[in-house]
Order: sequence, then C-alpha cells, then structure tokens
Amino acid sequence: MEGELVDLQKRILELKKKRNALIIAHNYQLLEIQKVADFVGDSLQLAVKSSEAKGYDLVVFCGVKFMAEMAAVLSPEIPVYIPAPEALCPLASFVTADKVQAMKQEHPGAPVVVYVNTTAETKSSCDIVCTSSTAVEIVESLGVDKVLFGPDKNLAEYVRRQTGIEIVDIEPKGHCYVHRMFDVAQIALLKEEYPDAVVLAHPECHPEVQDVADYVISTGKMAKIVEKSTSKTFIIATEVGLVEQLQDKHPDKIILPAYDGAICIQMKKNSLEKVAEVLEDLPERNLVTVPAHMVGHIRETIERMYQALGRPSIARTAN
Ligand code: SF4
Repeated sequence: MEGELVDLQKRILELKKKRNALIIAHNYQLLEIQKVADFVGDSLQLAVKSSEAKGYDLVVFCGVKFMAEMAAVLSPEIPVYIPAPEALCPLASFVTADKVQAMKQEHPGAPVVVYVNTTAETKSSCDIVCTSSTAVEIVESLGVDKVLFGPDKNLAEYVRRQTGIEIVDIEPKGHCYVHRMFDVAQIALLKEEYPDAVVLAHPECHPEVQDVADYVISTGKMAKIVEKSTSKTFIIATEVGLVEQLQDKHPDKIILPAYDGAICIQMKKNSLEKVAEVLEDLPERNLVTVPAHMVGHIRETIERMYQALGRPSIARTAN
C-alpha cells in the first residue's frame, strides 16, 4: 500500500512537470495529497496563490468546489481543474443568492459580507467577501453600525464579539458540521492530561469552544503559531488534515486533535488517484468554470477584500 502510494505520487510529479501544472491543496486535504502539492494553505493563502498562477498551463485545485471557483475567477486565463467536482461544502449551501436579496430588502443599506465558503452565485450577490482570518478586519473596514453576514453563525458570533458591530446572520442556522463536533468537555479532558498544551480553535467552532481556546484563528495562522511557538504541545480544534500536516512537519512537538473524528468528508473526496486522473486526461467534467456574468462582480468583491487588507490589487497579480 505504502509502495503504491509512493508510485502514484511519483507519477503525479512527472505529470505535473509534463503538463506545467500548479497543484494547490487546502490544509484539510489528505496528507498524501499535500505532499505532492506545490503549495498548501488556508483559503486566503490559496486565493492569493491562485492569483499568482501566471506561467503555468493549468491549476489542479485540491479542495472543495467553492475554493476552486475562486481560483477560476482569480486566474481567468489558466484552466482550473478539481480532482473531485462532487466535493461541495455543506456550509456554503446555507446561504443562497435569493436569501441574500431577501435580507437586503429587510435591512436596506446594510452591507453584505459573505464568508468565502459560499457558491459563486451567492458571492455575486454580496458586497465583499472575507475569510476566517480576515472577517474581523473586513467588517471593521466598512465603518458601519450594521452588517449582514453569512453563512457561518459561529464566525458571525466571533466577529460580533470582536467588533461590537451589529452582525445580522443571513441564515441563523448556518454552520460547519465538522467544527460543530468539538466540545468543551473533550478539550478539558485533554488539558487534564496535557496541562501545558496550547489550545488553537477555528472560529467556526461553537463560541463555548472559542472561549476555552488560547487562540481563535484560521488554519494558516495555526500553522504559523505551531512553527514559531516555543510550546511543545498543541490541541487543535479544526479538521484533522491540519493536525496530520503539523505533526508531520514538527515531529519534535505533540499535535493533538481536539477530536480525532473531525473529518470533512467533502474535502476527502479528492484522492491521489483522482489527481493523477485529472493530470492524465484533463476531463471536461473536472474543469471548473464560473458563469461569465458573475465573474466581474466576484472579482470586485475579492478586490475589495484585498484593498481592505492593504494587499496588492488582483489586477496586478492576475491576468
Ligand atoms: S470543513 Fe466545514 S467549512 Fe470546511 S469544507 Fe468541510 S464542511 Fe465546508
């Protein structure tokens, strides 16, 4: 089995070179996929990387579909393929474009901020997008008293607490089923065993879990903290793909999942076999496209996020 995986990885690396492909993977991908990727990161890091894909002939995006759609928008001249087109994020389905329109009518004048975990159609109806690492900064940058926000109610609560701004949930039930698996009791048990452990939780976790964490942050920032910290033990409340990545990178540290069943089935629909298949055949069904009439507006909403963060314009990094 081990040998077969290694052979497949070698085959992928050969095909990657032959196709002049950029492989990017989210932190929640299987570790064996992360190891063949040119770049691994959180959704903001992957969005930035996608906008810098110039020079490659194609991008293979190992993640869920909304992420690959962002890459297709940010890298319009380079075809973007996803190994598993059926990998859809259930959180994204909580907020539709129609729901956003209805909320806009109920709250005239309030800007709509949507989390990147939304479909292209939903993004095309919002004012600005944010990621988990940028949500607080983006909402504050708007300089308003009230914001419509979705689809994740726990991230909304985190922003509400951090900013004091009125955050209206576009869908009060919106949640990620993976981050909902963590609870305070599990973390308390681990802390009994590892009292010095630093607890890192994603803002999609329940507010009570956020309350017992030392840091509430994105997966990209979790990776940085583990790398830089002098602490030796960490309890990680996010999908286990990141835990496996960090343990692999830092064998001298103890990286504990807050719950080892926290697996995103959708993220795991990608596999090495599917990555190889995409690179071999470039199947039409794996090509990610965003309807042309949505692309311009989505680019603007991402551009606004970049501007609010003081990052270079997409216009300078893409095209
Ligand atoms: S971990 Fe949650 S938010 Fe992320 S892709 Fe899976 S279901 Fe969606």
